[in-house]
Amino acid sequence: MLQTCRNISKARPILQKYAGCLQISNHLSTSAALFDGRPFPLTALTEDELVLKDMVAKLASENIAPYVKKMEKEGKFDPSVLEAIFDSGLMGIEIEAEYGGSGLSFMSSIIAVEEISKVDASVGIYVDIQNTLVNALIRKIGTPEQKKHYLPLLAQKAGGCFCLSEPQSGSDAFAMKTIAKKDGSDYVINGTKMWISHSDVAGVFLVMANANPSDGYRGITCFIVDREMPGVSVGKKEDKLGLRASGTCMVHFDNVRVPERNILGKFGHGYKYAAGFLNEGRIGIGAQMVGIAQGCFDATIPYTLERRQFGKSVFSFQGMSHQIAQVATQIESTRLLVYNAARLQEMGLDFIKQAAMAKYYAAEVALLTTSKCIDWMGGVGFTKDFPQEKFYRDCKVGSIYEGTSNIQLNTIAKFIQREYEQ
Ligand SMILES: Cc1cc2nc3c(=O)[nH]c(=O)nc-3n(C[C@H](O)[C@H](O)[C@H](O)COP(=O)(O)OP(=O)(O)OC[C@H]3O[C@@H](n4cnc5c(N)ncnc54)[C@H](O)[C@@H]3O)c2cc1C
Repeated sequence: MLQTCRNISKARPILQKYAGCLQISNHLSTSAALFDGRPFPLTALTEDELVLKDMVAKLASENIAPYVKKMEKEGKFDPSVLEAIFDSGLMGIEIEAEYGGSGLSFMSSIIAVEEISKVDASVGIYVDIQNTLVNALIRKIGTPEQKKHYLPLLAQKAGGCFCLSEPQSGSDAFAMKTIAKKDGSDYVINGTKMWISHSDVAGVFLVMANANPSDGYRGITCFIVDREMPGVSVGKKEDKLGLRASGTCMVHFDNVRVPERNILGKFGHGYKYAAGFLNEGRIGIGAQMVGIAQGCFDATIPYTLERRQFGKSVFSFQGMSHQIAQVATQIESTRLLVYNAARLQEMGLDFIKQAAMAKYYAAEVALLTTSKCIDWMGGVGFTKDFPQEKFYRDCKVGSIYEGTSNIQLNTIAKFIQREYEQ
């Protein structure tokens, strides 16, 4: 309890506003008892996490939900939504308070992404990439100067983006063509990145470029590039099936001169960082998928209870209620996979296999759930007057980005082989 109040008191203003430590007493007694040095259920959250979950749910329903249709139609974030997520500290969840962040845990980021994605998966992926990739890289491998300059910016007003994929290199990401050539005390970056989420609005670009192509992937180095640097240009937004408010664009680097001090981490270690941090990012995508599935389910079940056919609610037909029970079980099991992977990460234990499983399965379950929800709604589920079709479109990308489902299965299979060959 003291720990909670201490952490919250360091958090940014709106987190504090919502954080009254006693507001959550329903869950508190269970969760406090369970943290008495004994194992606890995977769904048990700490007091900080419960406060955050309530705060994010409130923010999502008050500050995001009213804009979802407009953002979907216009294909961009509403400025008031961006303001709300920055002001509430959600763009710097794990960034330490000394840098203007909320100073909370990795699990807090996961919970926030899940809660937001229940309402809008585009805002969910913005918060996810910012916290689990961009901020995480700078927090964990940045120099003191880089942290001092970039973390307050990212926590308070600048979006970040993660530039790895290219037109010719997606799953085979390290076959990238973007190069960084040393020139005096600078590096000059040339190349094109593709599919870069939020590059339309981001101020900070983490760019993987090969600074020593003769050494193959061991030349890949991560650079921090500012949007204003001459030679950076962002292409038009892709016209996507889902996540329409989340901008996805090509980014061109044309003789972009970056000082050596903007190398993030060690020279030639970019491939390690990309692979390593994407493992964490995948837990975030799992959370996004759980949020989509749960949000869609929550929007659907009341309708099935109200809608009457043959003199009964459609929920009450066994053919319906058994399907609903099966899907609820799948959502719950996915959440356990995601939370377990997050807890393993937080405890510094191996989590790569679990993260791959969580992401792979969450994408499957979100697609199944949203498809079933459309079925359960009947004809109205197939219209844009109801949210199910958007949830369905938004989750399709779960089997594609941050490593396709095949790539996750490759990772899982490698672990299985290793375990059984020993
Ligand atoms: C909406 C969206 C947002 C994105 N955001 C970002 C971003 O912010 N930053 C970024 O860097 N990238 C981003 N990406 C890119 C994304 O990570 C890639 O699309 C993804 O890695 C797949 O690469 P690809 O599209 O080139 O497909 P390919 O790699 O060409 O794959 C095509 C098919 O081949 C299969 N395949 C490929 N290799 C193997 C293999 N070894 N074994 C089995 N099957 C295989 C794949 O599973 C897939 O089914 C985004 C993509 C989308 C759609």
